[in-house]
Amino acid sequence: MLTKRGIPVSPGVVCGPALVLGVEDFRIPQRYVGVDAVEAEVARFRTALAAVCDEIAENESLATSTLGKQYGAIFAAHLQMVQDPKLVDEIVKLIRERHFSPEFASSRVFRRYAKMFQNLGNRYLADRADDIFDLEKRLLRHLLGERREELAHLTEPVVILANNLTPGETATLPKQFVLGFATQLGGRTSHTAILAGALEIPAVVGLGDFLSDVSAGELVIIDGTRGEIIIDPDEETLSKYRDSQARAKSVVERLESLRQEPSETRDKVRIFLLGNIEFPEEVEHCTQRGADGIGLYRTEFLYLRGGPEPTEDDQIDAYRKVVGAFDGKQVVIRTLDLGADKFPGAHKSLTLTASTSALGLRSIRLALQNLTLFKTQLRAILRAAASGNAAIMFPLVASLLELRQAKMILEDVKEDLEDEGVAFKRDVPVGMMVEVPSAALLADEFAREVDFFSIGTNDLIQYTLAADRSDPEVANLYSSGDPSILRLIRRVVEAGRKRNIPVSVCGQMSSDPKYIPLLIGMGIDRLSVTPNLIPEVKAVVRSIDMSQAQEIAGRAMALELARDVENYLRGELKKVCPDLAQ
Ligand code: PEP
Ligand code: MG
Repeated sequence: MLTKRGIPVSPGVVCGPALVLGVEDFRIPQRYVGVDAVEAEVARFRTALAAVCDEIAENESLATSTLGKQYGAIFAAHLQMVQDPKLVDEIVKLIRERHFSPEFASSRVFRRYAKMFQNLGNRYLADRADDIFDLEKRLLRHLLGERREELAHLTEPVVILANNLTPGETATLPKQFVLGFATQLGGRTSHTAILAGALEIPAVVGLGDFLSDVSAGELVIIDGTRGEIIIDPDEETLSKYRDSQARAKSVVERLESLRQEPSETRDKVRIFLLGNIEFPEEVEHCTQRGADGIGLYRTEFLYLRGGPEPTEDDQIDAYRKVVGAFDGKQVVIRTLDLGADKFPGAHKSLTLTASTSALGLRSIRLALQNLTLFKTQLRAILRAAASGNAAIMFPLVASLLELRQAKMILEDVKEDLEDEGVAFKRDVPVGMMVEVPSAALLADEFAREVDFFSIGTNDLIQYTLAADRSDPEVANLYSSGDPSILRLIRRVVEAGRKRNIPVSVCGQMSSDPKYIPLLIGMGIDRLSVTPNLIPEVKAVVRSIDMSQAQEIAGRAMALELARDVENYLRGELKKVCPDLAQ
């Protein structure tokens, strides 16, 4: 049994057989074999091993004849490794004595050898671990043959373990078979983490190296609440986890009972709780939990789900579905925020221009250079808005010029629609994300030109502190509680108050219960949160009064270190909502 700690990004506890991606993309369907089958299974292993040896020998002679002897020697070394009697004996022993399936036994032994190489402290030898993974892959391919199962062809529930998952890969996970996932890379607000929340799949990211410690098919517990995974748990641990699953379920049920209660502080100040969504299907997650509308609809996921590029009609359908479900409550539709880690792999024109850099051609910058795409989306939003209460929000605005250009294009689109005699809504409110430090610093100027602000702390933190939001190595720097972030938020709130325009927070900070008293105390009365956290956030809102929240905000703002702010807020949450703090 092995326990690893990472970053919890989507709550819930699940347990299931591992599907390991990245090292190999198939899983072992069977871990044990019947006693009677043992000798037949040993024979099956030896046949597969012989086939692997033939394959490598062929590669050796091909490389020698075409590239020269020194290249052939690479394969000769592989052959030696895979024929090592000690390694072969260990696998056979596991099949005979512990009744492991040949796939499971081979995977275990190969992984152990790879780990030994990785731990030798020598770069050259550590790289040999990759050769071992390659040999494991070859052997499994022969053993599994037709039984190979890929992600797209799952038929049974699994937990996914990977080095990293892109937002696009996560968006296309077959949800009915994926109990949870855990990745070596990734940070708290990486888009993959956000998607896990949207799909309501328990997940832990930023675990560091662990894939070489796990074999496909092995039982793994993923605890997305505490940020822990347990590989090959013993009976005692399994039963402990079943209990904690039941406890978590009862807290969720208690919180869900708040659905009918208003979202207001103890002294009856109304705090609007809105949902952050990526897919139209999530609307139900929000309405079921009593959301006051949608504060952030990340429309770029229409492009990240795969399939052909969405047309104007596809987009109208998606937006109408969301707007229609809210019956007059506002739905803020954010225009495409593609680029950086949200990369549209399938759509050629965009793939050519979008940048994978967080500082490059992404988001509104990309939209302003792809006017056909941008105008198509604006047309779809304006047309869908005719059937309800929608607002448009521009992402990643960094300068007034960019905002003015985007607004000008919006006006052009309105004129086109009018000329065409197509039904649309003209007076749709237009707002912007405040997620680039320049926008927060110029909030007074921007406030004159928009109808609302929404503070995107996920990006605001990464750009202010120069700490990549998806890199676990700098997770210590990346904090919502950093005094620089609190000052920027205060600045935006004040600018909004002066011009009398609404200011909400839609970054993950507002889904974290410990920050709720602080944000409310700073004057934020709109929180846009991950749908499954609406009940928790409401529980905090209903447990405080304004004077208490203002005092907490005042004290937090006086602290100098992010760490002190976080600890202070954690302590306050414990007083206000003890069970949530746990
Ligand atoms: C943000 O940056 O805080 C935000 C909400 O946008 P996204 O997470 O989609 O970048
Ligand atoms: Mg953002």
